[in-house]
Amino acid sequence: MKTITAYRCKACGNVMYPYHFRCLNCGERDFEPIEPQGKARLLTYTILNELPWGIDERGRVLGIVEFENHVKALGLIESEQPKIGMKLEVGWRTVRVIGGEKMYGLSFKPIR
Ligand SMILES: [Zn+2]
Repeated sequence: MKTITAYRCKACGNVMYPYHFRCLNCGERDFEPIEPQGKARLLTYTILNELPWGIDERGRVLGIVEFENHVKALGLIESEQPKIGMKLEVGWRTVRVIGGEKMYGLSFKPIR
């Protein structure tokens, strides 16, 4: 499965995703790439009801999650009753279709 790459600052250990030119914590520029590991935990979310063209759904939950190795990422939350702190497993799916072209993104499903 395709996944994301995050970056850990070699100076202070701060983990960033997506990539930034300088560390948001200490300003250094030396990073090592890391992949998200383990389960994700929901940190915060919002429910979107006004969706742009190309999304064939009535409402969407968008959330920020944190993996066990502290990588944080934004993605779709595939739950109608999201709860802060809920455990999620990561997936990769079509999130939008524009002019027949599929765009992919992260999605997270509750672990039952
Ligand atoms: Zn740093």
